Amino acid sequence: MERQKRIALIAHDNKKDDLLDWVKENKDILSKHFLCGTGTTAKIISEGVDLPVRAFKSGPLGGDQQIGARIVEGNIDMMIFFWDPLEAQPHDPDVKALLRIAVLYDIPVAHNRSSASFILSSPYMERDYEREIILGFTQVDDSK
Ligand code: PGA
Repeated sequence: MERQKRIALIAHDNKKDDLLDWVKENKDILSKHFLCGTGTTAKIISEGVDLPVRAFKSGPLGGDQQIGARIVEGNIDMMIFFWDPLEAQPHDPDVKALLRIAVLYDIPVAHNRSSASFILSSPYMERDYEREIILGFTQVDDSK
């Protein structure tokens, strides 16, 4: 991944205020990168912080799957995903699939404020980084 990161932002409803606060606190750094997010999260952040955030569908309507697909395609470099540890979500299978894809493609992921702050203060935010994608035996070589 290059110096300018493509960062996905997602927050479940009870965590949206937390994410908005964190983005406000880190607006200067985040403004140097490309932001995208699930529909409602993207809207809340772009309106509340005045940063451009590309919006996908809302999470329960498939937004998590869209973000997962972008990770697979190599178009998202990291994910800040504040999920709700206290409430079940109707789209839990999508959330699980997204988390699996993020691990598989070795992208940095933060699930709470402290891990998000640790990631954002990493020296790798200012330089290139070579990810190690897990290659299973079913890997198809589509480079040819
Ligand atoms: P939302 O989706 O930003 O559209 O609310 C987040 C989610 O529930 O995954």
